Amino acid sequence: AAKAAGKNRVAVFDYTLRAERLHHSEIAAGLRRALAAGEFSLAYQPVVDLATGGIHAVEALLRWTPAGGRSIPPDVFIPVAEDTGLIVDIGWWALEQACAEAKRWHERHGIAVTVNVSGRQLRERTFRETVMEILTRHALPRNALTLEVTESMLLATGPAETQRIVGILADLRAHGVRIALDDFGTGYSSLAYLRTLPVDILKIDRSFTTPLTGADHRQARAFTKAIVELAASLGLSTVVEGVESVEQAGVLQRMGCPLAQGYLFSPPIPPREVDDLLRATPWRHAA
Ligand code: C2E
Ligand code: MG
Ligand code: MG
Ligand code: MG
Repeated sequence: AAKAAGKNRVAVFDYTLRAERLHHSEIAAGLRRALAAGEFSLAYQPVVDLATGGIHAVEALLRWTPAGGRSIPPDVFIPVAEDTGLIVDIGWWALEQACAEAKRWHERHGIAVTVNVSGRQLRERTFRETVMEILTRHALPRNALTLEVTESMLLATGPAETQRIVGILADLRAHGVRIALDDFGTGYSSLAYLRTLPVDILKIDRSFTTPLTGADHRQARAFTKAIVELAASLGLSTVVEGVESVEQAGVLQRMGCPLAQGYLFSPPIPPREVDDLLRATPWRHAA
């Protein structure tokens, strides 16, 4: 009986694996056509200054709606785009589009645009040149762009490659482009290591935000406060991600956290709605 059950389990496992592969190859096929078919767009989510309630920047987030189909979330298609290498072209499309769309917002309101970069894209030999070239082509000041990277991207390929990439980020920074460390707290996050990375902004992951108002909130708040203060003492700014309640925003504001992002302020929205948001009054309910 045990053997039969074991066999069954294997069969079920195989089936799931095959279904996943099919899913993966369908997504890959769709992605191959998506750029040329104009199926990508960017949504923007404001990064809010907690002291003033004003918009400090907007984060560009990729959206994919296959023709005649439903939108597929980035958490589903980005890993496939990474596996197939398609993320490189898609990533350059996103940076190009973000710079084009954000130029007006920067000119009128002085806000920056922050763009996610993938590990594959970051390891491209021409990464630095391509970023600079896109900025020049759109006549966007370098300090109007922030690139979001993660620690795992920097650590993925061994010390020599890490050093090469750190050098490239440092060089971009020296030219005025800002670097943000995304999803901070989910990876290997060594606080000591932070000192050596060429970053300007820490983005504290959403998994730290919910506990701020949960049962263990004392410990959660002490922890977040320590990160915010350490970052400040290193000259870094902090964005807390996933702020969904007025209470969370208040807690963060009182601990001196400068910036926040989340559904409380706005979900990611299409570019034309960003214009309306930028004209509207700042958020007051965070006070
Ligand atoms: P991320 O860069 O950490 O982006 C934040 C994610 O959290 C976004 O999901 C955003 O919609 C979501 N979010 C924002 N506020 C809240 C909140 O209050 N509550 C909750 N529950 N979620 C919130 P999204 O747009 O689905 O993107 C997921 C991830 O996909 C991003 O995480 C980023 O890693 C990746 N991604 C998105 N666009 C790009 C891109 O152009 N290039 C690359 N390489 N990756 C991208
Ligand atoms: Mg991000
Ligand atoms: Mg994040
Ligand atoms: Mg991320």
